[in-house]
Amino acid sequence: MITSWDVIGLVYWLGIAYQAPRVLKRWSLITSCDPIQLCDACRDERREVIHEADQYEVWGVFGAALMVVLGAARSCYKPFIRASRRAFGKESLPTCSKGSCLAYTGGKAAA
Ligand SMILES: [Zn+2]
Repeated sequence: MITSWDVIGLVYWLGIAYQAPRVLKRWSLITSCDPIQLCDACRDERREVIHEADQYEVWGVFGAALMVVLGAARSCYKPFIRASRRAFGKESLPTCSKGSCLAYTGGKAAA
């Protein structure tokens, strides 16, 4: 018997499976490039990713997998977080300023 929670769970994991490779590609791009080539928002993200990777490192492969799953899950929630912040009249989160930012141009060129 399939319940609605099963369906929600399935959609959730499919979303993560869909996001994970994109998150990985983005992380490998922003962590391997020179931070000078990134905009402020992406430089912040880079620092966070490196910091997190450092914490998860102690768990080895399991930690790396967990970090990717959490990162992918977070990028699924992002549109909702943005929308709710707007709804409550809060300042929106910093996003990539695009333009000459490598996370934008490099990501586009690789796609
Ligand atoms: Zn950027």
